[in-house]
Amino acid sequence: MADSRVSGACLCGAVRFSVGLPTQACVHCHCSMCRRNHGAGYVTWFTLPPDQLRVERGEDELRRYKSSDHGTRSFCGRCGSSLFCESTHRPDQVDVVLANMEGPIDRLPQLHIHFDDRASWVVVDDGLPRLGGKTGFQPLETAGAAPEDQ
Ligand SMILES: [Zn+2]
Ligand SMILES: [Zn+2]
Repeated sequence: MADSRVSGACLCGAVRFSVGLPTQACVHCHCSMCRRNHGAGYVTWFTLPPDQLRVERGEDELRRYKSSDHGTRSFCGRCGSSLFCESTHRPDQVDVVLANMEGPIDRLPQLHIHFDDRASWVVVDDGLPRLGGKTGFQPLETAGAAPEDQ
């Protein structure tokens, strides 16, 4: 089996890593923690099993920030680039920031999550599904949609 890997790095290059394909998902996250953590309108993550992520260089530059009771975000201690996010709710998965990759992965972003938390100035017109609600992953009602049975 071919070892299909894609490389990534932080802004300063101190932390280099690679991911083994296939990935499991790729989403745009509109939650307020992602926005603030990146200083961005929303953040695009992809997800894969932790054993498919390999830090190739700069492990000692990695800093970890516990951003919630279940979430830990990793970033480069030298340049501040956000790199990975882990949750004890999903111990078999790690999220990786798509923008840090040096080439395409095996999928494009599939949907928006935490969409009802989005910044008021963010305009999205890509036709992708929009999820939100309490978990951030529930289908959002669209205007004019017929009420569901029962
Ligand atoms: Zn860096
Ligand atoms: Zn988020």
